[in-house]
Amino acid sequence: MSSERKTKENLSATSESGRTSDAESRDGPTKKLLAEVQQEKELLTSLMNSISDEIWFVDTEGRFVLANESALKEFRLSESKINLDVKTFADSLEVFRADGTPRPAGEAPPLRALRGEVVQNEEEIVRAPSTGELRNRQVTAAPVRDSSGKIIGSISVVRDITERRKADDSLRRTRDYLESLMNYANAPIIVWDPSFKITRFNRAFERMTGYSADEILGRDLSILFPQITRDQSLLEIAKTLAGKHWESVEIPVQRKDGDIRIALWNSANVYAEDGKRLVATMAQGQDITRRVQAENSLREYSLSLAQSNRELQSFAYAASHDLREPLRTISGFLELLAIDYGDRLDSKAKDYITRSVDASNRLHLMIDDLLSFSRLETRKRPFIRVDLNEILKTALRDLDKTITEHGAKIEPGHLPEVMADDQQMAIVFRNLIDNAIKFHRDNHPEVRIKAQKRDDEWWIGVGDNGIGIDPSNQSKIFNMFSRLHSWKEYPGTGIGLAMCRKIVERHGGRIWVESEKGKGSTFYFSLPDFEAISNRMAFREGRSAVVRE
Ligand code: ADP
Repeated sequence: MSSERKTKENLSATSESGRTSDAESRDGPTKKLLAEVQQEKELLTSLMNSISDEIWFVDTEGRFVLANESALKEFRLSESKINLDVKTFADSLEVFRADGTPRPAGEAPPLRALRGEVVQNEEEIVRAPSTGELRNRQVTAAPVRDSSGKIIGSISVVRDITERRKADDSLRRTRDYLESLMNYANAPIIVWDPSFKITRFNRAFERMTGYSADEILGRDLSILFPQITRDQSLLEIAKTLAGKHWESVEIPVQRKDGDIRIALWNSANVYAEDGKRLVATMAQGQDITRRVQAENSLREYSLSLAQSNRELQSFAYAASHDLREPLRTISGFLELLAIDYGDRLDSKAKDYITRSVDASNRLHLMIDDLLSFSRLETRKRPFIRVDLNEILKTALRDLDKTITEHGAKIEPGHLPEVMADDQQMAIVFRNLIDNAIKFHRDNHPEVRIKAQKRDDEWWIGVGDNGIGIDPSNQSKIFNMFSRLHSWKEYPGTGIGLAMCRKIVERHGGRIWVESEKGKGSTFYFSLPDFEAISNRMAFREGRSAVVRE
């Protein structure tokens, strides 16, 4: 038996039963009338069953007299249970008001309707006996009256709104989340409508501009821009109307106190459901004022540094160049003095002349070295691929005399090819080997030149068996004019290692020494191994190409 029929029978089994037996005794026309009523009733029943909302009829006694299929299904009711008492039925369920508090059975809308109340879209929460799930329901109930206005029952329509509530809840949660994201984001966020009226303004924006959202909401965007860049900024913003969005546009913003902040902006358009009508534009900024200021002062600083470097270069060059001339004159006259008047001078005067000649020779050497130092910049040449073995050979040729004089033993190891300024590299080898020979002990100097590979670098070492350097002095010897001995002990100007450092650093390397006093020293300098670097880059590109495929 279909539930539609059961319901129909319910209907007839309860309120209609008396009239049915009366009808049996009636004759022709009455029968026809009854048949028509029956037909209408059937029509009504099938209409009710086609509705997904629950429909409940209750008589004046507070008993259910009719329920549609949705209602029966929701509460797993059979026809035998339909003429239940509403109060008893409500008592058997867990029912709550919309605010979550338990609702007494007497407050059930069908009963309130019996008392004449019209209940409009009232929300109730009921634990469904079938699944144990809490369902949100919206109830509308009204009294049913006869022609005299007397209440003869009530009708209730119940709509299950659980899914809608869930959707609303998740929408609200998303909205709350977005809201707090917007408010607690560190980046300034602003939203405006297509007429450039500001509609949202987060806290970071408040902090950046010094305006509170209340002061700015509903105002025109242009209020935020400094006069001088306003037109240009508005032009940029107008582009968003045409559907463009910014990836990263620099737009200055004027604070309430007049200060100007520079911000980088990206924007996104929000469209209506049709996907065409622009509803709002949202922009997120990054305050880069400090960065811009730092960049500007860095630029200014490096410009002035370059300028003062240039001045220093030309000063060093001019000074050393121009000092030579008077120095030559001094040493010339000192020599003449010694030659022409030597026999007339006493030994003390001769000693003075000898010391003066020595000093002017030293000065001469210093000027020469200074000039060479300043030429490191003025005469630098582009890097080319050079074989360090060849460079070493040239340096050793230049030092031939010194090597022979000291009976030095040189052991050149195999050196790599590098990208370098060949003349400057020769200066480095010359200085290091010259020192390795010069700072010898009583023994014959022995100098070893070797190379080792370290990751993306070559380490070139020049080692000796000389006097060694105390660790406390090892870093300062690379400074200009820094010497650890008197001229008498070991002649020199104190410029050689400073030159080496300048050259090595220009080549992207470092220079250092490993030594112990009395146990010889090894000077190392590093140079980038361009082959290893470019191989690695090629390997990386190759691998990413595979990933892309
Ligand atoms: P100079 O050799 O003209 O004195 P450098 O700049 O070449 O100037 O060297 C600075 C100082 O470093 C030297 O005076 C010396 O004290 C120390 N030094 C350099 N090379 C060595 C070395 N191979 N062994 C010991 N000391 C060294």
